[in-house]
Amino acid sequence: MFSYRHAFHAGSHADILKHLILIHLVEYLQEKPGALTMVDTHAGAGIYSLIDGFATVSKEADEGIFRLQKFAESHPLSPGIANYLEYIQAENGEDQTTVYPGSPFILARLLRPQDRLKLFELHPKEIDILRHNISELKQAKQIDIYAEDSFARLKGLVPPPSRRGLVLIDPSYEDKQDYRYLETAMEEALHRFATGCYAIWYPVLSRREAAALPDRMKKIAATHKRSWLQAELRIENAPKERRLQASGIFIINPPWTLEKQLAESLPILVKALGQDSNAGFVLKSFEA
Ligand code: SAM
Repeated sequence: MFSYRHAFHAGSHADILKHLILIHLVEYLQEKPGALTMVDTHAGAGIYSLIDGFATVSKEADEGIFRLQKFAESHPLSPGIANYLEYIQAENGEDQTTVYPGSPFILARLLRPQDRLKLFELHPKEIDILRHNISELKQAKQIDIYAEDSFARLKGLVPPPSRRGLVLIDPSYEDKQDYRYLETAMEEALHRFATGCYAIWYPVLSRREAAALPDRMKKIAATHKRSWLQAELRIENAPKERRLQASGIFIINPPWTLEKQLAESLPILVKALGQDSNAGFVLKSFEA
């Protein structure tokens, strides 16, 4: 059933948007010393080679992380983008980028001794690679890995004992039912843990379920009287091409600092990664 492998998309524009925001969310939540539990519901393999394997077939990093790094050599960056690039470089040598860290590695590197990370992955090959990759990290003891369906398991994991939690939901939407599973999982999670911070990645596509996703999330946030923020990055509009041209993140209970950071960072990402005159961004929020 599973054919999606994130290695094809490692370091793409969609990863940049997602991971830039993820780092901001964690760093904000860590301003308080209380233990933080982070759940990555769709983990993937954890870290990806950019010099061999799937990434070299798709070459998405060429128009993503490599393009941003090149841009950074001669343009001013926002503090948020500069910080993100430092996290990517920390996994690599001084001047070469040969690997791209996925959300499990980014989150693992951010763990403080009091924090915990829970990773879910269903793909039979990806889970083995993920386990191996995580076992090499010094933070491995703070990380639990589950080969289980995270949509079904999420409600049982919230609220975390410290009642401070961040949930990243990053499905591949390979299964069209994922849109429906996402809604149910969010309803259940917010019912049990309304104050958690939830970040939901989505593809911006004309397909009905995808186009409806932000509004469905706004409705769920309104039912639970929660604030939200929506950020989208489009790098081009080429209707005949099948590649992903825009993606978004919907955040429930966003930190108050995030909108300002994105107002600075998104125009720079458009300039750095934009492929045609349709490149642009969306930044919307609502305070409950
Ligand atoms: N979050 C990763 C990152 O940012 O580096 C990328 C994850 S990738 C978009 C989605 C992953 O979710 C795939 O590896 C897929 O096998 C896995 N997956 C799909 N459905 C799942 C489910 N119900 N529970 C857990 N993992 C699932």
